Amino acid sequence: MSISIGIDLGTTYSAAAYVNPQTGIPEIIPNPEGKKITPSVIQFINGKILFGSEAEEAFNEGASGCAATFKRSMGTDGIYCTIGGKSYTAENLSSMLLKYIKDYVEAETGEKIKEAVITVPAYFYAVEREATLRAAQDAGLNVKKIIDEPNAAAMSYGLNHWRENANILVYDLGGGTFDVTLIHMQGNGELQTVVTRGDHFLGGRDWDNRLQDILIRKFSDETGIDFHDEPESLRIVRGMSERVKKQLSRITSFEVSADFPNYGKASVDISRDEFEAGTSDLLRRTGDFCRGLIDEAGIKIKDVTDVLLVGGSTRMPAVSNYLAEIFGKKPLAHVNPDEAVALGAAIQATKGNEEYVGLSVIVKDNHKVTERKNFLGLVKPERKLTGLEVITLRETTAHAMGMIAVSQDGTRYINDIIIPANHPRPVRAAKAFSFRTSLRGNNEMEIYVLQGDKINPLENLIPFKYTVTGIEHKSEIKGRTIIKVQYTYDTNGIIKVEARQDNSTSNLTVTREHVPEDISKFSRPPEKIEAKPQNLNLVMAVDVSGSMIGKPLDDAKQAMCDFIEKLDFDYTRAAIMAVSDRTETVCLLSSSKSRCIRAVNSIECGQTGYENETHPFNEIESLLANEEGRKFAIVLADGVWQRQDKAVKAARMCNNSGIETSGIGFGHADEKFLHDISSNDANAIFVQGSEDLGRAFGTIAQSLGGSSEIDGGGLTGLQAQDVQTWES
Ligand code: AMP
Repeated sequence: MSISIGIDLGTTYSAAAYVNPQTGIPEIIPNPEGKKITPSVIQFINGKILFGSEAEEAFNEGASGCAATFKRSMGTDGIYCTIGGKSYTAENLSSMLLKYIKDYVEAETGEKIKEAVITVPAYFYAVEREATLRAAQDAGLNVKKIIDEPNAAAMSYGLNHWRENANILVYDLGGGTFDVTLIHMQGNGELQTVVTRGDHFLGGRDWDNRLQDILIRKFSDETGIDFHDEPESLRIVRGMSERVKKQLSRITSFEVSADFPNYGKASVDISRDEFEAGTSDLLRRTGDFCRGLIDEAGIKIKDVTDVLLVGGSTRMPAVSNYLAEIFGKKPLAHVNPDEAVALGAAIQATKGNEEYVGLSVIVKDNHKVTERKNFLGLVKPERKLTGLEVITLRETTAHAMGMIAVSQDGTRYINDIIIPANHPRPVRAAKAFSFRTSLRGNNEMEIYVLQGDKINPLENLIPFKYTVTGIEHKSEIKGRTIIKVQYTYDTNGIIKVEARQDNSTSNLTVTREHVPEDISKFSRPPEKIEAKPQNLNLVMAVDVSGSMIGKPLDDAKQAMCDFIEKLDFDYTRAAIMAVSDRTETVCLLSSSKSRCIRAVNSIECGQTGYENETHPFNEIESLLANEEGRKFAIVLADGVWQRQDKAVKAARMCNNSGIETSGIGFGHADEKFLHDISSNDANAIFVQGSEDLGRAFGTIAQSLGGSSEIDGGGLTGLQAQDVQTWES
């Protein structure tokens, strides 16, 4: 038999758990010392590698050859430490610790590990998540999933204390990081993460450092030692501060003694009050995060049903007291903060994986428009869930994902947000860019992905640069092409970028690179890309069948006239067609704006019959076949055409002869058909009602605008349009 386990890979302590097959209850698997938690410390000594309390004691005594708190540096390529001439990254060290855990779990249970769920702080960025995944794989673990620590804790808590509609605030203060997460318990046993926030550089270590400063001041007053000049004495105080801190969680004051090299024995008194006074600002920082989180979730303090404490640092009594002041109730004491995370991960290890969701919020001008569910239902009484199968977890993205883009007015670089923060994951979103290739150029597109929601791109984390290569130059349409880019946050919160050209169903090559050292160009105005005007030959064909009578046709005519107004007729010639049972060319290609507008206004419902017997693509092709310059046809329809197959074939013929086609539809129009008659997905536009046609034409106007194109090698502008995602 083999088992699935959960591992809490903590900054200071780690733990492993599994769901006991006999009882169906999650249990911690003790380490070889019989302890439930293992210090995340490694000691390299005399060619041996030690873990557990021996390594921790050596570290606390300041012995050389020890590595600790390496989780704080996950995802950085830098060397974390060099011991005995060998260098280790944080990832290498994490891998060694995970291998130690894997070995003791297999020895203790007598079973092979089939799969593992590993936890990370909710606020971990994609690079840190990837590093964790690789570390586990290097340790020989088959990783089923990476989940967020607060969610794991809520899972183990929720198993025995399910309260339908409860809003649980998980306050996770560990050794190196701080996260606060709001989780909603839904009726069907689903835990939905609502919002998560955190600070990567706030944790128990900061309290240790403050205590160290207090102790140094006291010992200095007592002995006259100048700790700046005595590194050995400094090391002694540094080594004791965490122990003293933990002691102050149990008793309110005591005497601390030390033996300093050039002085001898000395002792000072320390009290919890002094410690709390010297660290109250750190606690307030966590409180600010909690308030911000509640605001962001759109609820009030009183709507928080319970506060759940996770992470070793929540054992400091000041944490509970402070949170009780904020929330008006004592935090829950039901879970062991050191074990809850591993137990929750063990529950998750027994579950299947979730399906991808499409983007369910609209990101508009970089403001997120969220469809917030109502998290304020009546909280039902607590109950035990009847079995592990009923609890499911829905995680969210802690950081928004964006890309560096040129602002709409072309004056600066901005972070164009693609997937907002706090959106359920796994999630995909795809954008289409109008791209112009050249025959001899290197047709490559650069994408800089960001994590964060600051408008200034350089205030966010820029994890990767991606280069899309293999873009084909299509001379028949003068290199005009659409590149669709799909951005994914997978189930583990890891980023993936894929790209496709036009309607191709195979992916282009996307290479991930390190972000160049010097990216200061993004803080300067973008180089102006001169619009290269090109002659445009445009045909607009409008459905005049019976269903367009009245408002639909009036709205369509208005939208077409507004669109024509915006075109630059120094470079444009337009033709107008009416189509239903027959196709009639109301106006041949004309460079007179007023003539085109008059032609649109002259169109009447039913002028070519009241049904949809035909399509206009043959007429479009013969009108544009011999023209020079760009050729573009817009076909506007409100319903379903009778000869769709013929229309699709004829539209393809148009595309093959270099005519770009766009299907705009509304009302009962068949969306698939719109895609089939369009030369690419971005040109297929469906709107709900005829009053939205102006927006549809606006989108086309953007893709027709010369300056909205990215030249080969260029950086994407804001002109990207949302398109359908695809299966990876
Ligand atoms: P974690 O990252 O969740 O393993 O939390 C480890 C942090 O919790 C370290 O900074 C520890 O010093 C701190 N910690 C553990 N136990 C206590 C305690 N009894 N009082 C105060 N801090 C503690």
